[in-house]
Amino acid sequence: MSTLEIRNLHAQVLPSDESAEPKEILKGVNLTINSGEIHAIMGPNGSGKSTLAYTLGGHPRYEVTAGEVLLDGENILEMEVDERARAGLFLAMQYPTEIPGVSVANFLRSAATAIRGEAPKLREWVKEVRTAQEALAIDPEFSNRSVNEGFSGGEKKRHEVLQLDLLKPKFAIMDETDSGLDVDALRIVSEGINSYKQETEGGILMITHYKRILNYVKPDFIHVFANGQIATTGGAELADKLEADGYDQFIK
Ligand code: ADP
Ligand code: MG
Ligand code: MG
Repeated sequence: MSTLEIRNLHAQVLPSDESAEPKEILKGVNLTINSGEIHAIMGPNGSGKSTLAYTLGGHPRYEVTAGEVLLDGENILEMEVDERARAGLFLAMQYPTEIPGVSVANFLRSAATAIRGEAPKLREWVKEVRTAQEALAIDPEFSNRSVNEGFSGGEKKRHEVLQLDLLKPKFAIMDETDSGLDVDALRIVSEGINSYKQETEGGILMITHYKRILNYVKPDFIHVFANGQIATTGGAELADKLEADGYDQFIK
């Protein structure tokens, strides 16, 4: 069993205009995720949800000013981005980067090699990729395309979940994986997330605006995020309350 423990995390965003002052966005986040648990974070626009995801992922624009994040006791904040991935952390972003000239096939194999510490045997790897693609209704031709270049919203999300199923991280942070998906794609992507959870016993932090994906991917906990903190925590039933009454009740 693994544990991801976020303790009193404070972070600021470094503005692109260098004369502007850094702005504190995360104001003391505390959250513990165990293997096999799904935690949803819901909250209003601008409350810092993506900042939390980027900070965990080690994006250079976000600077930690206090706190720690322990993956099985190791502080990942002291690790480079690639070390975090090797330690078992996976980040799926709201706006994934395009990597022109790098095919999906090469990208996935390099990522698997980096994480496993050795190149997967080609024949077995091809089989693994095909099986995972089939489960996500991804055309095999997709492997030849450049990563995220010209991908539709749905293709980007399927590609994320494909990575999840192949790379089998200990913990996955998914930022608005449901945005831009039609009902069929949402169902397929959700099944991919559920199968990752079952087969890998991974822990999931799922950031979402809408309750819809939570009908398919059942959260064990829902956290309401407001003003850079977790304002309240409840079970799956909290989603209905939020949908009916909105976030205002949690914003001080
Ligand atoms: P959410 O994902 O909950 O909508 P974000 O984490 O994207 O919220 O944003 C939180 C706050 O941080 C917002 O006020 C946003 O404008 C600011 N912010 C986030 N990233 C940047 C950035 N790269 N440059 C400037 N401000 C940013
Ligand atoms: Mg937003
Ligand atoms: Mg966001």
